[in-house]
This record gives sequence, C-alpha cells and structure tokens, in this order.
Amino acid sequence: MDHTEFKQYLLCLEGLSPAQKRKLSDALRVKDEGETVAEALEKRISVGGHCPHCDHDQLQRWGTAHGMQRHRCKSCLKTFNAVTGTPLARLRKKEKWLEYSKAMIDGLSIRKAARKCGIDTTTSFRWRHRFLHGLRDKKDRSLKGIVEADETFFLESFKGSRNLGRTARKRGGKAAKRGLSAEQVPVLIARDRHGEMTDEVLKDLSEASITKVLKPVVAQDAILCTDGNKSYRAFANAENVTHVRLIASKKSRVIDKVCHIQNVNAYDSRLKGWMHRFNGVATKYLPNYLGWRRCLEKQGSSIVPTRYLSYALE
Ligand SMILES: [Zn+2]
Repeated sequence: MDHTEFKQYLLCLEGLSPAQKRKLSDALRVKDEGETVAEALEKRISVGGHCPHCDHDQLQRWGTAHGMQRHRCKSCLKTFNAVTGTPLARLRKKEKWLEYSKAMIDGLSIRKAARKCGIDTTTSFRWRHRFLHGLRDKKDRSLKGIVEADETFFLESFKGSRNLGRTARKRGGKAAKRGLSAEQVPVLIARDRHGEMTDEVLKDLSEASITKVLKPVVAQDAILCTDGNKSYRAFANAENVTHVRLIASKKSRVIDKVCHIQNVNAYDSRLKGWMHRFNGVATKYLPNYLGWRRCLEKQGSSIVPTRYLSYALE
C-alpha cells in the first residue's frame, strides 16, 4: 500500500466502534504470530540496521547461512546476520524462537516452556537466560515527580548449584527465621507515577547501597516517598531531595492521599504473585527474573511475540 493510500486507511479507523477496534487488534496480532522468525529477525537489519562490528549503516546482502540472510558492512567488510552480537547469537532452532517468546510472555516455567516448544529442558534452561539477558538491565533511567521506593525480600537460593553448604529446602520453601535474616535477599524497587521504574538486588539496606541505586535515577526535584527505613532519609538529606516518610506503627499510621507507597507495594505483590510459579529462583538469576517482570509490566498483556523477541535482542 502506498503512503497516501495508507494515510486514508488510517483516517477510516476513526469511525470504528470499540468492538471493531478489538477485532482489528486481534487480527493484527494473528498476523504478527504468523510472521516467521526469519522475517522478524530480518526486520532488525532492513529497518535502519547497523553493522554490529563498527556501527556503520551502509550494508549489503551477502548470501545466506544457517537459514539466515548474511550481510556485509561496506566499511569494515565484515559479515554478520541479524543476531550477531546479541544475547541470542549462535543459539540453534531459530524457528522455535517466536513460540519460546510466547512462552516467556505467558510466564511459563523452564519445563513447561520446553514441553510447549518441543525442545529439551537443557535447551529451555539455556534459552531462558539468554532470552532474559537483554531485559536484565533494561531499566528506566529517570524517575520524576512523586517517586515511591520500597524494599522487598526474596529467599536466598542456591537452586541448581552443586555445593549448597546446607540441607536443601523443598520447592522454594520457607526461611528458618522470620523477618530479615541472612537468608533473605533485599531488592529495592522504585517507581514514579508515570510507571517508570527501576529495581536492584542489594547486599544490604545501608545508606550506601540505597544511594547507589537511587542517586543516578531520582530527579533532583522529585518527592521521594518511602517507609520509615532511615537509610532513605540519609540519602534524601545528602542529595537534597524532598522526602516523605510513611511510618506505620501500631498506634499511628500516616496516611496521605498523595504521598503514599501503595503503587510500589502493589507492584511488589504482583511481582511476588507472578514469581510464585517458579518455586523459588536461584539468587544469581534474580536480576533476570526482575527484568522479565519489568518488561511484562511495561508492555502489558498486548505484547506480541515478535516485540518480545526484538526486546530480547536489544
Ligand atoms: Zn562494519
């Protein structure tokens, strides 16, 4: 369809009823799922692609290999394909990648994703962490306005490790002691009211640890809302950021209609509820899972496999 025709086509969309819009959206999604992996990957090069070796944009087609188009950079003369230099480079069975992306959107466990895609569990494990590699550090860089920050805890887990140093817990399990102990790994979550967010696995809840996460992202004129943890106050004082502490004690509970931490707490419960299915995740992989949830949270249920795949490749 040429450009003028397409513009007219877009104008027609204004007259659609809500039900028709839903049908159109479903139809587009089906089309997306019908797209082959090769087409989805090739788009990365055909739409403003750059050489992964030298970033030059003058490219030429250079035959095919392993079922994929190869390209050659006119500047450095090196050849590459659409996944060279990405976390998915050199993985096999590309034809299953969109199906695997769908399994990631659905939040399937390694075993379930393996069954769904007809691959073995070892492959599914390798793919899981390669598919999450790109999401792990994809965080928002600037939190503005009212910024809610709170800490949450995950049970330390050496799942999958050979030398445990203690008896194994069964399927996720429970901490031996209640509350914060050496078995609990703290995670700091911060988000603003526009849905921009960041999180980080911390070694402790000291002022230094909290400052390291919040300082680069919290805008100078933001209003930081937190619980009573004194480390937040120390950070806010040192950085001259307006700070509202919400102290909940038995007798007094400060409730403010504007300054609260209900959004970050609600996110925490969604995160925990979603993580439950994995029966505890190895602490070393926790940042991957946090990135996975952040992606699903930001993209919403409308994310299609090709979009997820391109996310994983960035
Ligand atoms: Zn190049």
